[in-house]
Amino acid sequence: MKFSKIYIENKAASYPLTEEIVDRLSEVETEYITHYKDVFDAAGQDFSAQKASPAVILAVNEGRRIYPGARPCQDFGHEHFYYTSQVKNCLYDCEYCFLRGMYPSGNLVIFVNYEDYFADIDELLKEHPVYLSISYDTDLHGLEGLTGLLDKWFHFAAGKDNLLIELRTKCGSGSVIRNIEEISENTLKHSNSNTFPGFASNKISGHAKCLKTNLVLAVTLSPDAFIRRFEHGTGSFDARLALAKKALAAGIRTRLCFDPVFPVKDFENVYGSMVDEVFSDPAMRGIEDVSVGSFRIISGYLKRMRRTALSPLTAYPYEIKNGMAGFDDETLGNMYKFMKNKLSGFIKPDIIFFS
Ligand code: SF4
Repeated sequence: MKFSKIYIENKAASYPLTEEIVDRLSEVETEYITHYKDVFDAAGQDFSAQKASPAVILAVNEGRRIYPGARPCQDFGHEHFYYTSQVKNCLYDCEYCFLRGMYPSGNLVIFVNYEDYFADIDELLKEHPVYLSISYDTDLHGLEGLTGLLDKWFHFAAGKDNLLIELRTKCGSGSVIRNIEEISENTLKHSNSNTFPGFASNKISGHAKCLKTNLVLAVTLSPDAFIRRFEHGTGSFDARLALAKKALAAGIRTRLCFDPVFPVKDFENVYGSMVDEVFSDPAMRGIEDVSVGSFRIISGYLKRMRRTALSPLTAYPYEIKNGMAGFDDETLGNMYKFMKNKLSGFIKPDIIFFS
């Protein structure tokens, strides 16, 4: 990816992460600005051109950093579900992505004050357990080479009482596994007190607290042809499946997300073959759970997406109900019924979640 420029908020200039990112992009021109919104929210931006060569905006988030999970997303039965958005926008360009409708810009905003995010979580943890999705308005895994933020989140979460983080990704890179393993081993080395009797030789399978108990790696899968046509820049189906397999083999809690499913031509054959392929390896039955979701979006965002760049996925005649655009009940019901029956042939129905 070629970046067009780095904008740096004056107050972000002194943060170590700003320096790290500027070093990584040493060939890219920089400009200092007063506030990230002066650039990110400017009128008349060309979203598609910016996606091809985005600017990076380094900023400090002084507003809200952690949000209750009230959006149309799956909480997997966790009472205290939150999400955070430390990066606005994504390196990838999925044609159905809600970010196309939500943001006026295709540029990336990276909030460099990650320690403030961690302090917010620590405050919440004083009140109750926290289940936190750390990669909601972006793909943090795909951005790791630029930001290094995942590694920071991993170190923060490792071995923490009552914190479970979810990393959802369409990136197929396997280097994250080594990172998780190293941090987990390190945590265990420095904390013998949490090991359970009888599991001394294998602390991780004995549920000793480490990153492997604090993290769910959620790998999103779509049929291969769908990925190639609509999920531009993301990892291939094979790479993502390989990542999920490696994660399971390493003892990492692994979730599969078939999200969003679309009523493509020959739906049952296309999605059925994908599910067969995923579970052709019996080890895949050891996954934590499965999430199945569909395209559902605020209707105003859909309008903006249609104006920005028309795609067959946004041109579809969605039903609008209470300000939300989505599939009609019959189409959605048919897709979900098929996925439930198909998946139930391989895993227990009580670990299949629909949103
Ligand atoms: S990977 Fe996720 S956040 Fe990134 S463009 Fe695709 S749908 Fe949007």
